[in-house]
Amino acid sequence: MSDPIQFFDLKTPAKLLRADIEKRLIAILDHGQYIGGPEVSELEAKLAVFTGAKHALAVASGTDALVIALMGEEIGPGDAVFIPAFTYNATANAVLMTGATPVFVDVDRETCNIDPAQLEAAVERVIAEGALKPRLVIAVDLYGLPAAYPAISAIARNAGMLVLSDAAQALGGGQGNKRIGALCEMTATSFYPSKTLGAYGDGGAMFTDDDARFERWSSIRWHGTDAAKKESIRVGLNGRLDSMQCAVVLSKLTVFETELQDRAKHAARYIERLGGKVAIQSGGPDDKHAWGLFTVMVDDRDRVMATLKEQGVPSAVYYSKPLHRHGAFAAYAPAEPLENCDWLADHALSLPFHPYLSNEQIDRVSDTLLKAL
Ligand SMILES: *Cc1c(COP(=O)(O)O)cnc(C)c1O
Repeated sequence: MSDPIQFFDLKTPAKLLRADIEKRLIAILDHGQYIGGPEVSELEAKLAVFTGAKHALAVASGTDALVIALMGEEIGPGDAVFIPAFTYNATANAVLMTGATPVFVDVDRETCNIDPAQLEAAVERVIAEGALKPRLVIAVDLYGLPAAYPAISAIARNAGMLVLSDAAQALGGGQGNKRIGALCEMTATSFYPSKTLGAYGDGGAMFTDDDARFERWSSIRWHGTDAAKKESIRVGLNGRLDSMQCAVVLSKLTVFETELQDRAKHAARYIERLGGKVAIQSGGPDDKHAWGLFTVMVDDRDRVMATLKEQGVPSAVYYSKPLHRHGAFAAYAPAEPLENCDWLADHALSLPFHPYLSNEQIDRVSDTLLKAL
């Protein structure tokens, strides 16, 4: 047997970049600007270039990125925010923290992302009921696959709503000739260590082309103060990303394009081995998957997982329960079942995936999976 297969590999890049990271962290110990150091604006400038968005703002987490984006539009009580029910809990938490009402929408079984037809139906229902004001759609780019932005944006525009991309799992992906960060009015992403661009701690970033929106976000991130940071001009929070985490992400950025290419290569090899034999999450020809995770859909998932584990192949389930079935969000469960969310919660299985897999490991995972089906 060769090297054990890891689900994620956080140690190899840390080893590769060790000297560079040490140099950057020591520079911060020397200049002493632990908050708001030059690393922050350097990272923001590089992220804007990378995504093609006009503005990038570094923040304390992906969750703060979502909350600040919602606060920036004054989303609050009486507002409806449409979100897919098959996502991480942070998407719904952010909405509820503002006092707005999450409206859970079903997803598509192939893309695992919000289904535009179901979104349109949910928007019409909320308008007909008249109790809530439709304000915003949060489209999640699940596992790294961009949501159907052209269709979602058209539906949102018709109802006078904005679109916020929860791209926590998808930085590096794209659609057409644009990258995540420039696919809709607002984008939030996360630097949680296992995301495509991970820090060594918590972190996140936000993207927009709109100058006024960017000014509001900058203010909210810094306790709601004015540009001179003297007067509170709105309600804000401490949503800053510190200099050290910015330095780590700057170092990770130096290998990010290479890592993304390797992710795409590995995904292509998995698809070559598994395509036609097992259902694989897939988008359209315009979508550029960031391959944050590689996810298949299998029957009898618990047994398949157990068999993989016996053979030394780790796997993971994202997510075993749609959000409207969690205690904290059950009050917002829609009257009609969200059938595809329930189906994916029973079938989705993520395979070992990171840029440092070998071809031999991918083949071993694929062969083991096919035998376990
Ligand atoms: C990770 C994640 C978040 C939250 O990001 P944090 O940095 O952990 O706060 C939000 N949404 C989705 C879809 C995520 O996967």
